[in-house]
Amino acid sequence: MKGKILSFVLLFSSLILQSCSSVPGAKTPSDKDINEMSLKAYEEVKSKSKISTNAEWTAMLNRVAPRIAAASGENFKWEWMLIESPEVNAWCMPGGKMAVYTGIMPVLKNEAALAAVLGHEVAHATRRHGQQRYARAAKSNIIGAVAGGAAIVAGQMLCKTETCKLLSGLGGAAAGFAVAFFDRKFSRGDETEADKFGQTYMAQAGYEPSEAIKLWERMGAASGGKGPPEFMSTHPSDVTRRKNLSTWLPEAESVYARSPQKHGLGEDIH
Ligand SMILES: [Zn+2]
Repeated sequence: MKGKILSFVLLFSSLILQSCSSVPGAKTPSDKDINEMSLKAYEEVKSKSKISTNAEWTAMLNRVAPRIAAASGENFKWEWMLIESPEVNAWCMPGGKMAVYTGIMPVLKNEAALAAVLGHEVAHATRRHGQQRYARAAKSNIIGAVAGGAAIVAGQMLCKTETCKLLSGLGGAAAGFAVAFFDRKFSRGDETEADKFGQTYMAQAGYEPSEAIKLWERMGAASGGKGPPEFMSTHPSDVTRRKNLSTWLPEAESVYARSPQKHGLGEDIH
């Protein structure tokens, strides 16, 4: 009982503190701060998830991920994992911590499409979109409510996605980060930027950039007309995205032409 009362006191005091300090833009965390939270969240997801034993897919991720990381030119402490799950999902947290869910692999169909997805997710990290997402969540008091000592109670109540629920026991800033990163959405502008940079990264990494356009066609079809998969639900519409990627294609093709290695479409995914 005592613990419960303390939790609520902490929850409310953090809400008050939070609302007093809600200066727009003041909550954007530094790289160092967000990378610390991100690392904790990544380790937690890793310890609570089943890592895939599919040797072929793991080998493919182990090929593609470092190529995309190198193409981004960012000096992160890169890590990646293939999670056994039917979810059609992939992400890259701030600081370069990536995950691909096995549910997305059959939709991708080939290695170049995996490069397109990773390019997009990595671009969110290199363009610091997670920091902005965290700042927006902080302004709406979500971070304070979760991080203020009532993480498990508040976290589970506030979480919408499975990954967020998985992380709600972390407590402190890392739990707040989990809500911000996994439950809050990137803005449409961030998504368009991630598409543009992602296409360049895949081309630089030696993958045929026109495959990005075909991938989003397959993504739309895979959802059976019910809209794109959940993790891309705020992305621009399929039509807008394909139009953008086609507009940028000549530029991406010239990056591909200059790329020291050419993998084309890479291997098929079975
Ligand atoms: Zn995105």
